[in-house]
Amino acid sequence: MIETPLTKLLNIRVPVVQGGMQWVGVPELAAAVSNAGGLGILTALTQPTPDALRVAIRETRKLTDKPFGVNITLLPSINPPDYAGYAKAAVDEGVRIFETAGNNPGPLIKFFKSNNCIVLHKCTTIRHAKSAARHGVDVLSIDGFECAGHPGEEDIGGLVLLARAAQELDIPYIASGGLADGRGLAAALALGAAGANMGTRFMCTVESPIHQNIKDKIVSANEQDTVHIFRTLHNTARVFKNSVSTEVVAIERRPGGAQFSDVQHLVSGQRGRKVYELGDPEYGIWSAGSCVGLIKDVQSCKELVERLEREAEEIIEGLGRLVVRKGNAKL
Ligand code: NAD
Repeated sequence: MIETPLTKLLNIRVPVVQGGMQWVGVPELAAAVSNAGGLGILTALTQPTPDALRVAIRETRKLTDKPFGVNITLLPSINPPDYAGYAKAAVDEGVRIFETAGNNPGPLIKFFKSNNCIVLHKCTTIRHAKSAARHGVDVLSIDGFECAGHPGEEDIGGLVLLARAAQELDIPYIASGGLADGRGLAAALALGAAGANMGTRFMCTVESPIHQNIKDKIVSANEQDTVHIFRTLHNTARVFKNSVSTEVVAIERRPGGAQFSDVQHLVSGQRGRKVYELGDPEYGIWSAGSCVGLIKDVQSCKELVERLEREAEEIIEGLGRLVVRKGNAKL
């Protein structure tokens, strides 16, 4: 077993968090990850209303008696969600672990902390991490440039960002972005993290709700198959490279630039949702991290989490054998 401040704080066996994913973080997946020993996370905004989130939380409880969390992400939206309503619904339902992400999370963090919740906050710069720590979060989820979805605008890769976190942060942090196997988990721990957050990896599990065609597409993809959209709108998002994301980038590069309204019909989340329902990878925009190049199979969450744990343990033990102390050398 690998015991870290994260496993102790959350009462989980394996230091792996299944990060929130729009249209993917549903009860079946979150419960499967928690049952496997990691922390499963429901994505609040995937539910159409706060009341629907209540139902999803109750469904998850029927499927697992292990801890799980709820993600609330604060980013520009076509129809701004009732963030406070989702937060209240989850707290009322007894959820005490939250993953927050996005812009101006202070009030949300304050609400959760005043309700005795554990908060993991995702951030892409050390400056934001320190600010979230001042707001009282318990764990930072340090999101490197490799990540799916929104990597921020600073473009710092996980290696440097995590080493900087080790230098600067006084509270536990986990590594996010680019992690999909036991090597990634072991590397995260070597960089001072208390665990790893994985999103794209969990899209490719048996219990993930997305269409099999999309899982197959990820398995056959390589690390060059993602692209950044919204760079010029300062809301950069890493998504799978397809005809729609290529068109968005082309529109953004037009002389004079683009407004969000120029690409809204291409990027809407409702259209992206259809990708997962229909199994058509070209139907819209869908988030994926550059770790798509590392994912070679679709396993159950139990098989995957056990493998992550086993691989990381083997690597850590193997690294220990590299250390030769002169005093211990055999004569
Ligand atoms: P949506 O349909 O409202 O928007 C689609 C995309 O366009 C999102 O990436 C959004 O951030 C971006 N966008 C919207 N308005 C914009 C603007 N004025 N300028 C620049 N970019 C803009 O999004 P959705 O798919 O229905 O998702 C709803 C919310 O959940 C959004 O805020 C989205 O960012 C967020 N989200 C959460 C997760 C997660 O893991 N929890 C992942 C992706 C997105």
